[in-house]
Amino acid sequence: MEKNLTRRTLLKTIAAALPASAVVLQQEALAADAPKLDPNDPTAKALVYVEDPANLDKSNPAAARYQAGQTCDNCIQIQGDEGAAYRPCGIFPGKVVASAGWCSVWAAKP
Ligand code: SF4
Repeated sequence: MEKNLTRRTLLKTIAAALPASAVVLQQEALAADAPKLDPNDPTAKALVYVEDPANLDKSNPAAARYQAGQTCDNCIQIQGDEGAAYRPCGIFPGKVVASAGWCSVWAAKP
């Protein structure tokens, strides 16, 4: 009897854990498969997003915030795996941004 209860408890625990882990795996898979943010996307343009800061339009006042060394990789909004060329960003949900990129809301990681 006690053996069955223990087994039942274990099965319940596994059943409860599966949906949560499946959601995490699904989110990671979605992030990895997300399309690259198009620099011509209206929001990206408004925030002066570029895949390479060398391509910043210096005539745009928002680009004046850029300082050498700032990249998406060291921005507080970057998510996903360290070292990946493209990673999710908190400002552009459902897209990935270039790790070497930059936009005008860049803020240093703490
Ligand atoms: S918010 Fe940060 S990580 Fe996202 S695009 Fe702008 S600079 Fe890159």
